[in-house]
Amino acid sequence: MASYDVIVIGSGPGGYVSAIRCAQLGLKTACVEGSDTLGGTCLNVGCIPSKALLHASHQLHEAEHNFAKMGLISDNPVVDWAKMQSYKTEVIDGNTKGIEFLFKKNKIDWLKGWASIPAAGQVLVGDKTHSSKHIIIATGSEPSALPGIAIDEKTIVTSTGALTLDKIPTKMIVIGAGVIGLELGTIWQRLGSEVVVLEAMDNFLSTIDKDLSKEAAKCLKKQGMNIRLGALVTSTEVANNEVKVAVKKADGDSETLTFDKLIVAVGRKPYTEGLLSADSGVAVDGRGFVHVSTRCKTDAPGVYAIGDIVRGPMLAHKASEEGMMVADIIAGHKTLMNYDCIPWVIYTHPELAWVGKTEQELKAEGVAIKVGKFPFTASGRAMAANDTQGFVKLIADAETDRILGCHIIGGNASELIAQAVIAMEFGSSAEDLALTVFAHPSMGEAIHEAALAVDGHAIHMANRKKRK
Ligand code: NAD
Repeated sequence: MASYDVIVIGSGPGGYVSAIRCAQLGLKTACVEGSDTLGGTCLNVGCIPSKALLHASHQLHEAEHNFAKMGLISDNPVVDWAKMQSYKTEVIDGNTKGIEFLFKKNKIDWLKGWASIPAAGQVLVGDKTHSSKHIIIATGSEPSALPGIAIDEKTIVTSTGALTLDKIPTKMIVIGAGVIGLELGTIWQRLGSEVVVLEAMDNFLSTIDKDLSKEAAKCLKKQGMNIRLGALVTSTEVANNEVKVAVKKADGDSETLTFDKLIVAVGRKPYTEGLLSADSGVAVDGRGFVHVSTRCKTDAPGVYAIGDIVRGPMLAHKASEEGMMVADIIAGHKTLMNYDCIPWVIYTHPELAWVGKTEQELKAEGVAIKVGKFPFTASGRAMAANDTQGFVKLIADAETDRILGCHIIGGNASELIAQAVIAMEFGSSAEDLALTVFAHPSMGEAIHEAALAVDGHAIHMANRKKRK
């Protein structure tokens, strides 16, 4: 029986990052992964392949809609779907093989197979039991299903099947206008499908800042995405390579829609199937989430859990940070993770990115705030890049000027948001950002201008009267 200081179960962005940090800290580390490649959902069937297709399809959109304006004239490019798939595979391979290389360099054993925890301090992989002083559970999540809808990953697909369809569908339905639904809907719409997104809720992106959701709805509509709110999918039926979707509308009426393909994107659920025996000592709540402390300790001594299987947002970077925090705790270091400063991104175009609280949340809490907003239409760099949709919205405490939230919709918002994350992590005031020198011309100047606008001092726009 091999013994380790740490066995990490799962090699997604939570697990592999945690394993590398454990090894760096001198702990004898193994990582269990049952799939053929390392990297979990994110690298194999999630963040990375979807970004490869989003990038490729964005280039197509630019060529079709924006090249001529910049004097680039040619016949419209055609999509070679097989080649685009190869590009995506190449991107995945580069990433997953990179993790394998890092495991070797850090002397991390990859235990190939599916793990279970038969008892405290033990991990069973295949027919071999390994002992470990510490166990880190990082088994991630899987797509949620809807009752009455049979997913076959051909006609009715999850986010996994949606990345490997055999051809570009003519008509595509997406259930759920959440992060996954909007990103996948965007890919297929740019590739030429007619996309209808059905969302049960009456409000679009109801948890994000209202200014952002309003602008996103406007931009996506302009691109031709048909987002139908208050549309609850109740059942589906597949026949003759088509899918009939029964929808209950907000006004109580029902209708049936017929499409080629259906993507179910109604959330994800923690994946712990077959993992925990009754003797493991690890408690799981009614929704399948492993119960943990703020520092990711489960109820079983020496067992930690991180990422999508525990409370908090299901985001790869949140999982990675928890993985590093737990490795540091095991190695006896002092460490901390700031759950109030986790950025979110939706990779449509324009991208949506935010950190901290929304204007609506802060008002509901009775916090007096100041808001600075700067549109990309007034940014020289955005104009030069022909990418002027959206804005930066910065919210600061009216009394202390401390930044409480930043909400961006625009090109490269995923990169820009890091500036606000760093500022908030360091407890900056809006004035700190306003006094900082930003490179010109850059999209980031919009953050500078939004910070200036908090007190009505933006340079490249007419300032509105200061809000109370
Ligand atoms: P989500 O919770 O963001 O959205 C699901 C949507 O489906 C909700 O708006 C819900 O109201 C709707 N819905 C549920 N049942 C319905 C029905 N019967 N008919 C119509 N609509 C229905 O979930 P998701 O988009 O599947 O994403 C899952 C998780 O993965 C999220 O936690 C997300 O953060 C994470 N993720 C993040 C990224 C990113 O950071 N860019 C990308 C992909 C996934």
